[in-house]
Amino acid sequence: MPLNDLFQLCRERVTAEEAARYYGYVPDRRGKVLCPFHPDRHPSLSFHRGNFRCWSCGAAGSAIDFSARLFGLAPLDAVRKLNEDLGLDLPVDRAAGPEERERARREAELRETRKIFEEWRQTMLTRLCAAIRTGNVALRRPMEDWDPKECLAVREQARLEWYAATLEAGDREEQMEIFRRRKEVGRLCTRISGDTGDPAGTDGRNGPRRRSGAA
Ligand SMILES: [Zn+2]
Repeated sequence: MPLNDLFQLCRERVTAEEAARYYGYVPDRRGKVLCPFHPDRHPSLSFHRGNFRCWSCGAAGSAIDFSARLFGLAPLDAVRKLNEDLGLDLPVDRAAGPEERERARREAELRETRKIFEEWRQTMLTRLCAAIRTGNVALRRPMEDWDPKECLAVREQARLEWYAATLEAGDREEQMEIFRRRKEVGRLCTRISGDTGDPAGTDGRNGPRRRSGAA
């Protein structure tokens, strides 16, 4: 297995926090530990998305970086140590068998799917916020002044807000439900904000919202 793949697999199987806990660095109520990489009197090292960061000395990285620095090891030796200490079952110092290669392939596929989903989620959130803003701006003016897009934004506001809240902090199953209906949700945003280069949505995209009236 190429080294880069081995490192990737290692980072997937153990987070920096799990490694730190194993070596005796148990997070306090605020999720922080005393940093082993500088003389730390108040816990200043925290964990996020599998990585660690010290807000005082700037040390940061993965479980491999944590272990390498803690024990003064080269990255590959840090992987070996994590593998042994935490029983990660990594194909280190031996060739990967067919099952292991298949497992690595599936893990890579899953990683790719998660990445695509996450990119979609971020883009969709931005578009939903723009559509919600359109409704909020319209609501500050008399209803007679609203253009059709603003009428739509106001009418669909509750739905748009539910989508946004769910994508922001809902559970995965609800988010997947929106993902399955992504075309419909995307079309609604396009009809309100015209923000996908859709020819139907180019009208007045950056221009004034009012189509007529006070000149
Ligand atoms: Zn530090």
